[in-house]
Amino acid sequence: MEKIAIAIHGGAGTLDPSALTPEKEAAYRGALSAAVRRGHAVLAAGGAAIDAVEAAVRVLEDSPLFNAGKGAVFTAEGTHEMDAAIMQGSDLRAGAVASVQNVKNPVALARLVMEKSGHVLLSGRGAFEFAHKQKVELEDDEYFFDQLRYDQWQEVRGSTETRLDHSTGEKKFGTVGAVALDAQGHLAAATSTGGMTNKRWQRIGDSPVVGAGTYANDATCAISCTGNGEAFLRAVAAHDVHALMAYKGLSLEEAVRIVVHEKLPPLDGEGGMIALDKHGNIVLDFNCTGMYRARIDRRGEVVAIFR
Ligand code: ASP
Repeated sequence: MEKIAIAIHGGAGTLDPSALTPEKEAAYRGALSAAVRRGHAVLAAGGAAIDAVEAAVRVLEDSPLFNAGKGAVFTAEGTHEMDAAIMQGSDLRAGAVASVQNVKNPVALARLVMEKSGHVLLSGRGAFEFAHKQKVELEDDEYFFDQLRYDQWQEVRGSTETRLDHSTGEKKFGTVGAVALDAQGHLAAATSTGGMTNKRWQRIGDSPVVGAGTYANDATCAISCTGNGEAFLRAVAAHDVHALMAYKGLSLEEAVRIVVHEKLPPLDGEGGMIALDKHGNIVLDFNCTGMYRARIDRRGEVVAIFR
């Protein structure tokens, strides 16, 4: 039981400490703590890493504070198109959904894609049809409405600008994710997002793409990313950490440092990632001012936002 560990994130970005009122900070910290504890409880009861990451991400999807599930940003058409992925390190099985609407917990749908579809990635209308068939919980558009996200959209509505989730003076990625190591030594990762405000043409980011925003392999590590999705896709960021460990023998910390601080910045890849290796080491790293994050391992619980 000693080595069970879990880490989560609720997005990274250029965060302005003065914009974070004590009430807002307490709300974020409370939500992060609730999510990481939910996931940890699964592991502590002897549950699988895949169940732990799904449980933790569901809590974050249900919170309007983050850009995933309830609280997902608006597209150019005023809808919510969500992306999610889940992967288990023991056999490299993975499931993902892209551009899905009205699904309460996209991560749960991604899990069903992994287990029941015979495929890895379903998108748009097809993913919705599959969701319907699997009887996953659906919600009407109203459920996904959030005034802050709506106001963010109004600022760019009608233009061709695609924006990150932001509040005045801030530029943040509100994607959520989790990585976990269970008592059997298996790793898993999950990521869920509403993508970018005012996105068009069914734009899909890195989050649902295996190897870009999400990756897990028992041989090395589990990774969930947040940041400018286009850059993370081009860098194949999550898999690159795995590759540096597998082929170069680097430690988790060094592999994450190279990807986050050397490979992503030249591609305008602002953001960060949470990473966990098979020994239970956790690395939470980012190349911007902050990342909403939490972890529980043998040393206890830590919740943090800024560096
Ligand atoms: N990576 C996400 C995307 O590009 C955004 C985020 O991390 O908030 O869709």
